[in-house]
Amino acid sequence: MHALSRVVEKTLLSMMWISLPVAPVFLSIVAGDRSYVRNYRQTIRQLARQRQAMAKAEVIARRFGDEKRAAEQSMTWKIEGECTHCGECCLYQTCVFLDRDDQGRSKCRIYGSWLFRQLSCGSYPLMKDDIDLYACPSFRAEPVRQVSQVRIGRHSIPVVTRNTAPESTVEGGASTRP
Ligand code: SF4
Ligand code: SF4
Repeated sequence: MHALSRVVEKTLLSMMWISLPVAPVFLSIVAGDRSYVRNYRQTIRQLARQRQAMAKAEVIARRFGDEKRAAEQSMTWKIEGECTHCGECCLYQTCVFLDRDDQGRSKCRIYGSWLFRQLSCGSYPLMKDDIDLYACPSFRAEPVRQVSQVRIGRHSIPVVTRNTAPESTVEGGASTRP
């Protein structure tokens, strides 16, 4: 990961810690939910857990510095699976916008909003590392078939090599994650 990405992350995280006391007001406005302010102390505690999870997952550095790795992994791994809404990829279930429906399935309070579109979490998982990071139980990375051409005389013969694929029972499908 680039040193510059780490500097950006440290700077932004520091600013987020400094602005912690006023953050509940911001959350209330963004989510249209005054409970963030009403339950001020609880929100502050939750925000502190979220900030720690962001640092642990290096969310900001990955957001700005992982394009090259994502491009490389997209050549060798394809993502398959379907979200089962455990909420783990929402910063290890610490995100202040994480909510649950009646069945206990994770859902996002700001899904579809302007802020949501600026975040990378809505695209999870983009690459194999993302799956590993949160130990997602529902998506998996499958090795991509490598196809090369071998010339024999005047003919080109396609040769397919395949890495050892992990055993899995999950069928392919698009994420239904809100
Ligand atoms: S993408 Fe994976 S880790 Fe995230 S909520 Fe869905 S099942 Fe859980
Ligand atoms: S999807 Fe929503 S709840 Fe999950 S990490 Fe992103 S903003 Fe937070």
